[in-house]
Amino acid sequence: QRLTACTVVHTMGAYACQRKTPLEHHNTIFTDALLLLAENAELCANEGRNVAFKRAASVLKALPRPVRQMEDLQGLPCLGEHSQRVIKDILEHGGSSEVEMTRQSEKYQAMKALTGIFGVGVKTAERWYREGIQDLADLVTADLKLNREQQTGVKYYDHLNMPVTEAEARTIGQIVEKAVHALLPGAEITLTGGFRRGKKTGHDVDFLVTHPEEGREEGLLPKVMGWLEARDLLLYQKINKNSYLEAKEWPARPSSNMDRFERCFSVFKLECPWAASEKSNQSGESPSWKAVRVDIVVVPFSQLAFALLGWTGSQLFERDLRRWAAQEKGMSLNSHALYDTKRKQYLRASSEEEIFAHLGLEYIPPWERNA
Ligand code: ATP
Ligand code: MN
Ligand code: MN
Repeated sequence: QRLTACTVVHTMGAYACQRKTPLEHHNTIFTDALLLLAENAELCANEGRNVAFKRAASVLKALPRPVRQMEDLQGLPCLGEHSQRVIKDILEHGGSSEVEMTRQSEKYQAMKALTGIFGVGVKTAERWYREGIQDLADLVTADLKLNREQQTGVKYYDHLNMPVTEAEARTIGQIVEKAVHALLPGAEITLTGGFRRGKKTGHDVDFLVTHPEEGREEGLLPKVMGWLEARDLLLYQKINKNSYLEAKEWPARPSSNMDRFERCFSVFKLECPWAASEKSNQSGESPSWKAVRVDIVVVPFSQLAFALLGWTGSQLFERDLRRWAAQEKGMSLNSHALYDTKRKQYLRASSEEEIFAHLGLEYIPPWERNA
């Protein structure tokens, strides 16, 4: 094959875990459009279409330069006919009419507003939408029976839809660390999720908690949440018990993204130093605190590397890691372990690097996992 000066040969793997995907990239006009279509598919419970558009966007995120013409896409994986049509529209007309129509559509806007409430998934939103409920105001008027999570979501809707900043994530990290160390000295806290990938904002803050002496972490989470509760630092908490030990079927569903760690989905009441120092309460408005979503996961030390890899994301990166393991390596990966199906044995790892090595993949650091 002869190369001319303007030929770009792409050697890009089809799995997101084979590529380096930085946070900042050169193709946001295309990826914003494709991700809106992905989001719409997700809101319509069309998982295949959702993933297809996400994959297409992810490939463009990994490109070292902007796409300027359709020829630039030659040899790239995961770009289906539909995604190519959207890219072509943007190149030719500066925008995609399909994307604009979707953005304006009543259903998209309603589903986005309703699923934007903490505790409301696509199924619930869809049911409400069919009953004529399109936004938070409709929901409040309808006076439906809501569960505790959804009540929290309604109550703190504005706060929870405000991005969490890096500074807020750090402050919450200090609070969690203080609580954990008060109850279990020597425990280790790791910031994970989007902030570990270098994101400047997030929809929540994710933490892993472990202790180097395995077993010491047992029973820690209820105590930590109690400590926080007693100091008026929580607005909501729900602990899911560890279901790993009694699970007999494991690793039967390796592709499932749910894991079995003891964890807590919570809403913190974060005091804002700036708000407290201003006389913000004079008018009776704007409280001196902000409601922030926080996930805390307790991990036995021997599973820490797997949990870290599994909770750092991005979602598509995780999905492709598991798909790579299963389809290319005959292995089963989740946030607890890596299992070699052919040799019928677990592969141990004490770092993410070792897991990538087991999987025959080049190591990708967290900040390049923004697939
Ligand atoms: P954001 O900035 O929006 O919070 P994020 O990447 O941190 O982005 P999260 O939804 O907080 O997104 O998820 C962080 C990681 O944790 C993801 O990789 C996801 O796969 C994993 N994760 C989330 N929920 C679960 C769950 N219930 N079980 C297992 N893993 C989960
Ligand atoms: Mn997160
Ligand atoms: Mn989370």
